[in-house]
Amino acid sequence: MLMPYSFEPHRDFAVQLDREDDLKGFRSYFHIPENTIYMDGNSLGLVSKRAEESALRVLKEWKDHAIRGWMSGDKPWFYLPEEIGKKCAAIVGAEKEEVIMTGSTTVNIHSLVGTFYQPRGSRTRIIADELNFPSDIYALKGQIQIRGLDPSKELILIKSRDGRCLDEDAIAAAMTPETALVFLPSVLFRSGQLLDMAFLTREAHRKGICIGFDCCHSAGVVPHRFSEWDLDFAVWCSYKYMNGGPGSPAFLYINKRHFDKTPLLAGWYGCEKNRQFDMRIDFDHSRSAGGWQISTQGMLSAAPVESALDIILEAGMDKIREKSKKITSYLAYLVDAYLSKDPYHFKIGTPLDPEKRSGHIALEHETEAVRIGKALLDHHIIPDFRPPNILRLAPVPLYNTYLEVFETVQALKKIMDTKAYASYSQERGTIS
Ligand SMILES: *Cc1c(COP(=O)(O)O)cnc(C)c1O
Repeated sequence: MLMPYSFEPHRDFAVQLDREDDLKGFRSYFHIPENTIYMDGNSLGLVSKRAEESALRVLKEWKDHAIRGWMSGDKPWFYLPEEIGKKCAAIVGAEKEEVIMTGSTTVNIHSLVGTFYQPRGSRTRIIADELNFPSDIYALKGQIQIRGLDPSKELILIKSRDGRCLDEDAIAAAMTPETALVFLPSVLFRSGQLLDMAFLTREAHRKGICIGFDCCHSAGVVPHRFSEWDLDFAVWCSYKYMNGGPGSPAFLYINKRHFDKTPLLAGWYGCEKNRQFDMRIDFDHSRSAGGWQISTQGMLSAAPVESALDIILEAGMDKIREKSKKITSYLAYLVDAYLSKDPYHFKIGTPLDPEKRSGHIALEHETEAVRIGKALLDHHIIPDFRPPNILRLAPVPLYNTYLEVFETVQALKKIMDTKAYASYSQERGTIS
């Protein structure tokens, strides 16, 4: 097993790891659900006290200023998407005007694929992968259909050999003169594999192909260098590792090279800010990522995102990544030590090399994953379940502890030893 750390299997060692943790002070910034081990920050990050204050601030501004809130107060609402975009640009390694907070991930995929997918001559295909988040694939198919083309011919889905991971060389090899666009996730949402975005971007550009990424599962937990890698565009949400809140607004990145391209899902928020209220019917978009805004941003959901990003900036992406690699390695180590052999039979579906994964570990159990997940919930431990046989566990660097990881593995062991899972039904909940 590839393991650049040396761990020990007993409880005291977890306590020692927590004591030595550079980020241990950040846990107190968050509201941790009582008596709960929260291992689901890859689906919905926890609320911080500062994010809560920001939501209350906007509520108060609405009470006090009503319409004047757009331009008055310390943080005029009108400029908030740009201001928060700048903070996020620092987190993903982009220039300030290349990132904007707007919309939601799937809408942003439609918007940017609308701009960047330019089928011409024999270059008509989009390359994606069969393991991607379904919403991304639905959007790509829709964008192909809107052009009057046939998704069964034009959408090429790269296959996985083991159902878990993708081979970057195989993706590069599939980039042909027929490829108009490559759109991939930074991280596969089930296995947690982190793709080499720099390599894939180089390969696409070498062949004259545009490339974009969906970074929902890496933003806020893996450092990105968008400018250096030179990708064409990216989208990501703010409610997973960025802790922005349930359904909080998303982000998009446009390489400044492309600011002159046309936003096809156009809306008045894409205008230059100081000309938006001229109310001219000719659309002249802002030459920045802001040009791809569509509508008025909901401020109650936007304000907490800013505070959530402030915390990430305070901790620093390098420190966050360092702990993430270590704490997921620790989880993998404990699974190997306690849960891999007879009669437990858990497998890890995530790359064991920490450089090749994001912030979660996919724990596979051939037959009982659904029921084990339900038993964990009754032990006040929150994982999530992804069909057919995966429990995802995300120890989040900003608020999870090594002791919580230790206790999660001990709870799993107990659930198996006592066969506690056997009393649950095999049916999965509506949201799992
Ligand atoms: C979380 C996630 C989404 C979510 O899309 P929404 O439009 O925010 O509902 C989309 N794609 C990927 C890869 C995700 O991880």
